[in-house]
Amino acid sequence: STLVSLNQVSKVFANGVAALERFKLDVHSGDFISLLGPSGCGKSTALRLIAGLTGPTSGTVTWPGSSEADHRSEIGFVFQEPTLMPWANVADNVWLPLRLRGVSRQEAKGRIAESLALVGLQDFAKAYPRELSGGMKMRVSIARALSVKPRLLLMDEPFAALDEITRFKLNDDLLKLQGELNCTIVFVTHSVFESAYLSNRIAVLSPRPGRIVTEIAGAFPHERR
Ligand code: ADP
Ligand code: ADP
Repeated sequence: STLVSLNQVSKVFANGVAALERFKLDVHSGDFISLLGPSGCGKSTALRLIAGLTGPTSGTVTWPGSSEADHRSEIGFVFQEPTLMPWANVADNVWLPLRLRGVSRQEAKGRIAESLALVGLQDFAKAYPRELSGGMKMRVSIARALSVKPRLLLMDEPFAALDEITRFKLNDDLLKLQGELNCTIVFVTHSVFESAYLSNRIAVLSPRPGRIVTEIAGAFPHERR
């Protein structure tokens, strides 16, 4: 079933920059979609439109299943930089999206532990971000996005800043995670390898303004498909 549908979406910023033009994408439940394209082609803008963080200049973003508000509350967002609060420990960083939804630290306890276990960092709840490697910080950032039990996980070049070995490891962990969580993922990357390895669908964007020029299937037939 279709989770979210972007139909002929164009986005022109106040300074006149056209980021997306007649962008069309249907995200189906269970998809792992990569948005693949050169820097500046509007991939992040597309994610932000899906998340409702910004609105389209023209065209529509629709959630056929239920209200947009319902779905927006079930979105997890992972940014390119882990953006952890340095003064808060790992558990409190993971708590943040729940706290913003009015969930107390006590109520969040189970969810925090669960999310950290999903990324293999159950023993690091009390550690501070500065004590962690780049890959571990990214795992915390993923755990933070998972704490709200998202149906849709939006990831904006999450592994771009990491070394290749860490990146490969996280790619495998992410595939396993999606299998366990049964969630839908839209993943922004400019790595052909990464998109082929991870996704069942790869949407290839043109340079700015971004348009989907073609869609191809992922290269590796993982068992989960
Ligand atoms: P990508 O994620 O593919 O690198 P972005 O979606 O970040 O691309 O940006 C697409 C284009 O829109 C770029 O040229 C960028 O400079 C521009 N852009 C992004 N956000 C804004 C903004 N808030 N105001 C003006 N221009 C923007
Ligand atoms: P990552 O690949 O996640 O960035 P590194 O390979 O850079 O982690 O490891 C940095 C240090 O942290 C190493 O000493 C490694 O053993 C330790 N480490 C990384 N992840 C874990 C984990 N889940 N549990 C225990 N130690 C870990």
